[in-house]
Amino acid sequence: MRIVFIGPPGAGKGTQCKRLVELLGIPQLSTGEMLREVKSQDTALARWVARHLDAGELAPDHLVMRIVAQRLAHPDCEPGCLFDGFPRTIVQAQLLDEHFARTARKLDLVLDLQVAQDELIKRLLKRAELESRGDDNQETIRSRLRVFKTQTAPLLDYYKKRRLLITIDGMQTQDEVFEQIKQSVTGRS
Ligand code: AMP
Repeated sequence: MRIVFIGPPGAGKGTQCKRLVELLGIPQLSTGEMLREVKSQDTALARWVARHLDAGELAPDHLVMRIVAQRLAHPDCEPGCLFDGFPRTIVQAQLLDEHFARTARKLDLVLDLQVAQDELIKRLLKRAELESRGDDNQETIRSRLRVFKTQTAPLLDYYKKRRLLITIDGMQTQDEVFEQIKQSVTGRS
């Protein structure tokens, strides 16, 4: 199964993705992690990527697609994979569609994890305190939420029109959220 997992920063996407890949036995393709890995190297590309990430802005679409395509070429992605944090723009969704068309694959399902805005801010500030992630300060949190609203949220409509979208209520407990995800996924497989 090939699944896209969409959720604003702070919605608990990372935790739920980890549980879902364990259940399905497919790899998790987190573009956030891939980009942080690129950023940690001592190259000109790393410094360019760092400028985007540290400002809470999106990395360029074609660069992200190139990194994802390289990862998709690994044999462990053959049975399927879970996209965590990708696509994040309509252009990325189109690039992914084109990639799948070229490689005779398809997307099976898009999960949309919904959490109220004030709850997101509360969770992100708490995470900033606990993990001291470089892109989790007040200013970048606001910027990442704004980016989600303007650039990523339009994807919901894009996938709804393709009848791939399932909305999950992210205001429940972690276990309840996962139960709803499990039901959505098994209903499709
Ligand atoms: P995440 O770990 O998914 O919250 O991503 C952390 C940061 O990495 C984001 O705020 C963006 O700057 C960047 N990023 C992650 N995924 C993407 C993507 N699909 N497109 C562009 N930028 C991304």
